[in-house]
Amino acid sequence: MFEKATYLISSPSYNQCPKPDKFEIAFIGRSNVGKSSLINMLAGRKGLAKTSGKPGKTQLINHFLIDEEWYLVDLPGYGYAKTSKKTRSEWAIMIEDYLVHRESLQIVFVLIDSRLDPQKIDLEFINWLGENGVPFALVFTKADKQSINKGQQNMAKFRKVMKQTWEELPMFFLTSSETGHGKDELTEYIQTLLEN
Ligand code: GDP
Repeated sequence: MFEKATYLISSPSYNQCPKPDKFEIAFIGRSNVGKSSLINMLAGRKGLAKTSGKPGKTQLINHFLIDEEWYLVDLPGYGYAKTSKKTRSEWAIMIEDYLVHRESLQIVFVLIDSRLDPQKIDLEFINWLGENGVPFALVFTKADKQSINKGQQNMAKFRKVMKQTWEELPMFFLTSSETGHGKDELTEYIQTLLEN
């Protein structure tokens, strides 16, 4: 957990984001994966990122200032079927611009539902990150919804698929915003990045 977290600004495009003068990490994933809940858990503040029942609503890049020192960024969810084609491509342009050009971005955490077998949409996005040299780690969410063992099995399936195309695998975390599982591990990892 971090000492102090405050919402700063929501930006409709990468070039309207705050100046890239601070260490920055971002979170992304499919709508409803549990991204807001995870951010709130990490920040220790329930209402910081909105946990909304309406997936796909936020199409903005949200900056939070943590401990007056660095930015935590909440990126809009991908793969929401109900958004129109036009909105989706605008989303892609906005996110791709941000991920490729944001010079202060250290890492993007890609959130994946720990209950699911590897999904095409997540794998495609991860491959795109790799092709574009964007550093990332994987955070598997909602670990409490089944046994930890089952969550780990799904992570193993994911590793197996990734090994077919990747020489080196990224970090994998198993988390639950309900129970706090994996919170310390993820926080420590972020702290390590901050210190380096
Ligand atoms: P987002 O759209 O990715 O920001 O997802 P939210 O954080 O709004 O979560 C979507 C739904 O999943 C909400 O009903 C949350 O209460 C629920 N949820 C999120 N994380 C967890 C978790 O770790 N465990 C459980 N049981 N439910 C979760």
